[in-house]
Amino acid sequence: MFIIIEAKLNLSLFLGTPITRESLSHQANIDRLYVHEDFVVDNLMIAVLGLDDCPYGKSIVIHAKLGVFYTDRTSRQLFNEYHDLNGVGFIPARQIAQHLNLPDHLPLVYGHVVYMPMAGKRHKNPDWIGLHMVEKFRSQDDLACFTATNGIEIHLPKKQFDLRTKVHNACLFAETHLQMWALEVSSFGKFSPLHQNVGLTDQFTACLCDVHQLVPKTLAQVSSIRDRHMDKLTRDFSRNDIGIDSAEASKEKIRIYHKMKHY
Ligand SMILES: [Zn+2]
Repeated sequence: MFIIIEAKLNLSLFLGTPITRESLSHQANIDRLYVHEDFVVDNLMIAVLGLDDCPYGKSIVIHAKLGVFYTDRTSRQLFNEYHDLNGVGFIPARQIAQHLNLPDHLPLVYGHVVYMPMAGKRHKNPDWIGLHMVEKFRSQDDLACFTATNGIEIHLPKKQFDLRTKVHNACLFAETHLQMWALEVSSFGKFSPLHQNVGLTDQFTACLCDVHQLVPKTLAQVSSIRDRHMDKLTRDFSRNDIGIDSAEASKEKIRIYHKMKHY
């Protein structure tokens, strides 16, 4: 393996043939990759592939600017660093998951940025795909095939789930988050959300399914999504209180929290 100085060069080497787990295990492709130890997560990752047993790294990042490289961190570790970037990490996704009642396969969502895990939480090092960086997807046997906006094809192993439903649900997280912000921002009377790196996340906005009806329509609904999550957090925080039963403790904390919102 050699170090590629011009990292962007190596991305063009993967144009025209799909990137798969299989293809990345071939020596010719391994030689095209480099090791990026100081990589800091950003929104231009197209996909992150978890590696369970590889001498060069614990994951492979396919990045729109930096190309394809190994990192020394698992995909889970990489995404847990995301809060360094936006300050809140998975909190918006958790709030929305609770509101939409979609607790499985929690995506990372921040506006139009959506990273969708390809396996459940029990998997320590799942593959992730950035739906905001993808323009097309399809199922092919046990593979999920994604075409990135820059033309790179990525095929990831798919477990027993319906890909369209999974992508629909992950995009719904983005719609909900954007709508929450749009309602808040429009209540200020100025600004509108910017459109960039939208990828697939606008694909389902005309959908009329039941879960889509839960996308908030008023500012009050936005507050209630956040409040419900805060209530849950408070209950969780209170679980280990000493000398007072947890139901009492959580009631008291929720009362104090609600009081803080009033003059
Ligand atoms: Zn829908």
